[in-house]
Order: sequence, then structure tokens, then C-alpha cells
Amino acid sequence: MLVSFTFSTMIYRVLASEVERFERAQRFRIEHRILDNPLIPGGAYTLPPLPRNSELLEESKSRILMTLIVINTAIFFSSGALGYILSGKTLKPIGDMVDEQNRFISDASHELRTPLTSLKSAFEVHLRNSNRTLPDADTLVGESITEVNKLQTLSESLLTLAQYQSTNVQTHFERLQVSELLKEAIHKIMPIVKQKKIMIDHAHTSISVYGDRYGLTDLIVILLDNAVKYSPHKSTIDIRTQKTDGHILITVTDHGAGIARSDLPHIFDRFYRADIARSKTRYDGYGLGLSIAKKIASIHTGSITVKSTAGKGSTFTVRLPIRQAA
Ligand code: ADP
Repeated sequence: MLVSFTFSTMIYRVLASEVERFERAQRFRIEHRILDNPLIPGGAYTLPPLPRNSELLEESKSRILMTLIVINTAIFFSSGALGYILSGKTLKPIGDMVDEQNRFISDASHELRTPLTSLKSAFEVHLRNSNRTLPDADTLVGESITEVNKLQTLSESLLTLAQYQSTNVQTHFERLQVSELLKEAIHKIMPIVKQKKIMIDHAHTSISVYGDRYGLTDLIVILLDNAVKYSPHKSTIDIRTQKTDGHILITVTDHGAGIARSDLPHIFDRFYRADIARSKTRYDGYGLGLSIAKKIASIHTGSITVKSTAGKGSTFTVRLPIRQAA
């Protein structure tokens, strides 16, 4: 507005002086035409100077002023409206980010509060019991340690998710052998694999991928951990790797609980657990694994999809670009 106002003032000054100059020139021309063509041929003609046409001048100036005021008002309103729309658009991602952070904090505190409350109640009940014995205390401490371990897992998962969600996530991209990543991930989940006597079937591959070693290992661990968790004892998990146009596909197939059709659209949401998984006595977890996996895939400009039939098993497919994104 300041720029427009400054220019308008300059335009007004220039035009006003131009109008005055034009009016003077016109008067001068008229006077000369009369003097050059006297009514009496050969006769001398004296003419008093023509009066200044102040009325016409004032009218022209006020017209210029009005036009400039109208133009400036239009600029004021349209720039205001445009500024409002543009600032809204620019600030929207920031607003979304703040909303997302608030949701994250409230989800996380909700998940942390439940086990903490149950721990607190168990301690209070124990203290109120006047007949408490040492074995009772031992049992309570044992149960509490299990709960604290779960809380530790939850806080670690929250931290991992927060790290991958952050805009300046620490990653080190390099060329990696997929079979090495698989070997490392399988090694990490070996204790639960052995516990459930599950067989992991994976063929050796020489395919390589461009990515972050820790991120991709975490991603495969999450998928394998779920596959083991939701599979019956002595079942098989298949891992396959194949190349497509510019991408590699890593598929993890289990023959376990499967996922109900109604749960499929939500399983990548933070803290989402399907009904079957929520019965915590059967499966431990907080519904964070797949949202972390999805974040890791998207950091690699890849994707992760699932096909599943309840009661029969699930296949998770990770699609990653082979080469570094331009
Ligand atoms: P959780 O810690 O509950 O396993 P995830 O985010 O890893 O959290 O998974 C979200 C939900 O998706 C799980 O609660 C479970 O219902 C479902 N799910 C994930 N992987 C499998 C699988 N391989 N088989 C069956 N259900 C699965």
C-alpha cells in the first residue's frame, strides 16, 4: 500500500503539472492564432493575455485525484484479500504440523497414563493391605518390572517415531546389500523366532538398495516382529526380494492371524491396534510399529502396502527405489 500510495502521489504531481503546462500551451496557441490573423488585414492587433482557466484545471486535477483514490482503494482491498489467502496457504503446513504434534503428545500421554495408573493402584492396594507378606511384595515387584519393561518399550518406540517424524532426521544414505539387511534383522528377532519355533524362509539375493542402514533394518525388524507375533507356533514366514523397474520389492508373508478387512485401512495409523491385537494378554504392542515402518519407507521415497485375509495370514510389501532420488 505504501508503494502504491507513493507512486500515486508522484503520478498526481506529474499529471497535475502536465495539465497546467498543457493549459498554458493551449492559451499561448490561441493568443498567437488571434494575433497572426487580425480582423483588419494589415491592422495592428493588441490582445490582453487570456485569463487562466482555473475551473477547468481544478476539475481535471480533482478527476485525476478521484481516479487515483479509486485505484488505490481497489489495490488496498484486493491486496488485503490476496494477502489473507496467501498467508493462510503459507501457514497451513505449520498449522498442520502443530496440530500433528499436539495429537502426538496427547496420544502419547494417554498411552503412558494407563500403565502408570495401574502401577500406582497396585502399589497403593499393596500398602493398604495390613497382612502383606514378603512373597506378596516379591510378586508385586515382579509384575511391576514387567509393566516397567513395557513402558520402556513404549517410550523407546515413541522416541523412534518422533525421530523419524522430525524434519531433520539423522540418516546416512549409502548402497546396501538387501541380503545383509535381512540377515541383520533376522538376527535381531531370533530370540522370539526360536521361542515360537518359527521357520524363516528367505532366499539369498544379490540385489542392492540405496538407503539408511539403521532405518531399513528397523523397518524389516518391525515387519518380521509382527509376522512372528501374529503367527502360530511352528509356522513359516517367507521373505522374498525382487527387482522391478527402478525399485526393489521386499515381501514378508506370514500364515498367522491375518487382519480383518475393516482394520486394514487403519493399521498404519499411530496407536491403532486391531481388536484381536488389543487383547493384550495375547499380543504385546502399542500400535506404533507400522507407523514407524511407514515413516522409514517414506524417508526412502518408498512405500509399504499390505494384503491380508483374516485367519489366513498377511503379506507386507516394501517398495524402495534402487537408486538415489535426484
Ligand atoms: P503392534 O505393536 O500392535 O503390533 P503395529 O503398528 O506394528 O502395532 O501394528 C498395528 C496393528 O496391525 C496390530 O495391532 C495388528 O492388529 C495389525 N498387524 C500388523 N502386522 C500384522 C500381521 N503380520 N498379522 C496380523 N496383524 C498384524
